[in-house]
Amino acid sequence: MDFSNNPQTKPFQDPHSFSTPEEAVLQHVDWHLTVDFRRKKITGTGVYHIQHRQADQIIFDIHHLQITHVWLEEEEKETEYTFTEEKPFLGQGLKIPLKPETRKIQIGFETTPGSAALQWLEPSQTAGKTQPFLFTQSQAILARTWLPCQDSPRVRFTYTARVQVPSHLLPLMSAHNHQERNKDGIYFFQMAQPIPSYLLSLAVGDLVFAPLGERCGVYAEPATLEAATYEFAETEQMLAAAEQLYGPYQWGRYDLLILPPSFPFGGMENPKLTFATPTIIAGDRSLTSLVAHELAHSWSGNLVTNATWNDFWLNEGFTVYFERRIMEALHGRDYAQMLHTLGYQELLHTLDELSNTPQDTCLKLHLENRNPDEGLTEIAYEKGNLFLRHLESLVGREKFDAFVHRYFSTFQFQSMDTARFELFLEKELLNENEALTQRLNATAWIHAPGIPAGVAPVKTALFEKVATELEKWVTGTPPQELPTTHWSTHEWLYFLTNLPKNLTLPQMQELDEAFGFTSSKNAEIQAEWLKHAVTQQYKEAFPALETFLVRVGRRKFLLPLYKTLLQTAEGTALAKEIYKKARPNYHSVSTSSLDALLL
Ligand SMILES: [Zn+2]
Repeated sequence: MDFSNNPQTKPFQDPHSFSTPEEAVLQHVDWHLTVDFRRKKITGTGVYHIQHRQADQIIFDIHHLQITHVWLEEEEKETEYTFTEEKPFLGQGLKIPLKPETRKIQIGFETTPGSAALQWLEPSQTAGKTQPFLFTQSQAILARTWLPCQDSPRVRFTYTARVQVPSHLLPLMSAHNHQERNKDGIYFFQMAQPIPSYLLSLAVGDLVFAPLGERCGVYAEPATLEAATYEFAETEQMLAAAEQLYGPYQWGRYDLLILPPSFPFGGMENPKLTFATPTIIAGDRSLTSLVAHELAHSWSGNLVTNATWNDFWLNEGFTVYFERRIMEALHGRDYAQMLHTLGYQELLHTLDELSNTPQDTCLKLHLENRNPDEGLTEIAYEKGNLFLRHLESLVGREKFDAFVHRYFSTFQFQSMDTARFELFLEKELLNENEALTQRLNATAWIHAPGIPAGVAPVKTALFEKVATELEKWVTGTPPQELPTTHWSTHEWLYFLTNLPKNLTLPQMQELDEAFGFTSSKNAEIQAEWLKHAVTQQYKEAFPALETFLVRVGRRKFLLPLYKTLLQTAEGTALAKEIYKKARPNYHSVSTSSLDALLL
């Protein structure tokens, strides 16, 4: 890439990185990593290939990461390096002085117990119970806790890694992966497409592989592999549907890795290898829209990347929209419409929760001096999606699809900020069309709180039927007489999220006996029911509540359940007691939100 035309060098400061890529920028890294389960430590060296024009220094991000040496490659001896003052969330800048001819730097490093990206699991926390497990979660700004890097989403680089692990375990990365273990425990990885640092990932465990098609497959612990292979059988079809919509998949293979239940997210779109929670294995393929979501990120996010975490809605709004188009292609409009309605309900709930901080409900965020994880709300996802659907409804699907297709192909392997998106929208779709510009009202959607007036609430015929049945039950029809036999998970979720707020204990009991919610094998249904159980003090469900909270580390479930418990004194005592047992099973991404509430 010609440095002068490098879009990464457009001068502006990412508020969540110390790096100054307009002066000196990372292009490629060759890492050597050794994973030591006994000491719970990764030790490594990286040869960093950089580009600069007579810059006198390059700055990397680190946080709770120990630096053991720095060499300018042409000298092969230690060079002096310094650190900036440590800042909350951000860590420190590692400042390395450069010579005019410096093109490679070698950095030695070791992770520490504070390396927040890493979760080291004991064998008891895995499905197989016999081997330990390690996984990383780098988004948003945790890559810097396990590898020195320019930890800003506007910096892209390629990498290779030589990874040494105990020989009975298999390592996987966001790279070209091996499908089988070898004898010496040494593996070589390559990521030939430039990626931002938040997509760096590593998992090590007792993992096996099964193909799901020509380009897709699934990795899981042996105990989980069969269920995973059944659940995600439609992945290859999803990939074909996605390409049909918005152009070729650019990453070679698309595999899934099913992690132990402590994984803090539903999924993480690590390129070539989505990391996924096992809580989407429901036995009936009803929660696979999450796979469509992570797959869609191969375009929105991984290909066209939010320039800073203030532009997070560009990653997630597009991805939610795209996810539902994939589900529509596979299962029809009604199915996608159910997902939109459930998402819309969550958006209304979030708008209510954020009513005291309305600025956090704008699509474009201002997270300076805050942890970027605070921007991880339904606003980016569901308000972003709603805005794009509003745009689609005004210009028609054909024009809208052509616009999205062009957006991905024009800006592939680049970063995108909100202002640049607005310019592209103006040039490609609005074209000084005053009436359209006014009806779209993009400025209000992007820069003002809440949902602009005049947008019709999202409604679904299938859910209207559920609402009718719910009403019948409330007015005395026994639950067994409701025609629920063919209800999907989504209809059940609509039923549960719309139960009256003032249920009595006999009503709770009646529903539970009829439908077995407390012991549901579907994590979404069970978690939704458990919220009601807490609110109504339905104690029959409390043992299941404790088991769920101790086993599952997915933030989406933990936060609402604990917050509901904290609404009463009795619930608070129970929440604290459960949290003590459950906390060792949670990733730092979850504990960093929960500690403030529960310790
Ligand atoms: Zn996403």
